[in-house]
Amino acid sequence: MDQPTFVIVGAGQAGARAAMELRRQHFEGRIVLIGDEPHMPYERPPLSKQVLWNPDECQPGILPRGFERETGIVLMSGVAVQALDLRRHALTLADGNQLVYDKLLLATGARARRLPLLDRLGAGVHTLRTLDEARALAASLRRARRVAIVGGGVIGLEVASSAVELGVEATVIEQADAVMARNAPAVLSRYLESVHRQRGVALLTGRRLVDARRDGDAFALILDDGTEVRAETVVYGVGAEPNVELARDAGLAVGNGIVVDANCRTSDADVFAAGDNTCQWDTWTARHVRRETWENANRQAETAVSAMLGHTPALGGVPWFWTDQYGMNIQFAGDMQAPTWVVRGTLDDPAFVLCGLQGETLTGAVTVNRGQDMRSLKDLIAMRAAVGPEVLTDSTQNLRALAKRLQETV
Ligand code: FAD
Ligand code: NAP
Repeated sequence: MDQPTFVIVGAGQAGARAAMELRRQHFEGRIVLIGDEPHMPYERPPLSKQVLWNPDECQPGILPRGFERETGIVLMSGVAVQALDLRRHALTLADGNQLVYDKLLLATGARARRLPLLDRLGAGVHTLRTLDEARALAASLRRARRVAIVGGGVIGLEVASSAVELGVEATVIEQADAVMARNAPAVLSRYLESVHRQRGVALLTGRRLVDARRDGDAFALILDDGTEVRAETVVYGVGAEPNVELARDAGLAVGNGIVVDANCRTSDADVFAAGDNTCQWDTWTARHVRRETWENANRQAETAVSAMLGHTPALGGVPWFWTDQYGMNIQFAGDMQAPTWVVRGTLDDPAFVLCGLQGETLTGAVTVNRGQDMRSLKDLIAMRAAVGPEVLTDSTQNLRALAKRLQETV
């Protein structure tokens, strides 16, 4: 009997990881990985960090050298998939060719939300989602004295940090009253604001961009309070939108992303989805969520592959992501909306932990330069441990021992 063909659309984090995972889980059929970018699959986290510092040296590839020979995975780069026919199990490629699948994984990711007000200004205005965009921004930062960054989310703050390291003066414009307000507790937002200001970043929160123009060699950005920000380079990071068009046009259920269950199944039995493009049923929060993190892309890729092969996927763990700014490593686990946050250590030290509590229960945590505590914190969060603020803020209490002790009692 012929071996089945599994096709993966999108050769980014989730797609490339899923292709390798299929072989790891002993799938012997044909694997076709299709990506519309001209590059080998690559990681995005270095784009706002290492690629900006060292564009010629950083090669953030995902697949090992020689993977095609070793695994037989067929990679089609620079090819966009334009249409999906669920009934015929067929894909139409941009070159007009058709490809038939037995099972399909949609790993199409997300794209930068656009600001037409800035896009119309042309060269010198950047977004940051792809390797090509990161290289263009790296070159632009080397020519600029000042950079204006619209959006004080993860991209905005990581780019500000990289710009400062390159000796470029940075201004960040954020419409909310705090930076990283969606992803971080208020205490961390305030901490990050003070760190950025200490490094010389002009941080303009609670201010909206209302107009922008070219003015000689520079750009002038006008804010709603009349402030004018001038810079030779402009970058904006105002959120990401999931790439759902292929799924929606085919008739799959789509909300804020392609709707999937906890096993990455879409509304069609032979189609799965993983990564930034999904609106997933999350067993952790018991609701549909869209997660835009490296760890989620990898975890969903593994889950989807298990489900495609008819295995029972492992249950999702505590959500986790990180950011690097000014050499600080900051990791986040669990719920960032916890009502109460306490500090383990002190914000004046280079390393400390923030613990988010719902009543006595630890539901979220942030480590600043204390990645070694993250595993224990995740275990405690997963157990929904009722440890209380006194124990968590007592630095003499060893978190690993605490997690182990509680694990033994459940
Ligand atoms: P992507 O990696 O975006 O891959 C999707 C791919 O599919 C893309 O190549 C896209 O072009 C392609 N595609 C889309 N439609 C089609 C089509 N029709 N046909 C063919 N191909 C198609 N997360 C963290 O946790 N920590 C970090 O420090 C961090 N840093 C980041 C820095 C930057 C600058 C960015 C942009 C993201 C960062 N992330 C970080 C987020 C993380 O990189 C993403 O969550 C992850 O890449 C999502 O993987 P994905 O496979 O879903 O999507
Ligand atoms: P983001 O984290 O959602 O932040 C966007 C920020 O821009 C929000 O604070 C938003 O405020 C603000 N904003 C929106 N419109 C604005 C406007 N017109 N003027 C000023 N501010 C405005 O998104 P992002 O930073 O653009 O990141 C995009 C993607 O890259 C995401 O998928 C993200 O996960 C990923 N990424 C991740 C990391 C990481 O995890 N370390 C690093 C870089 C990128 P409101 O909330 O008020 O709308």
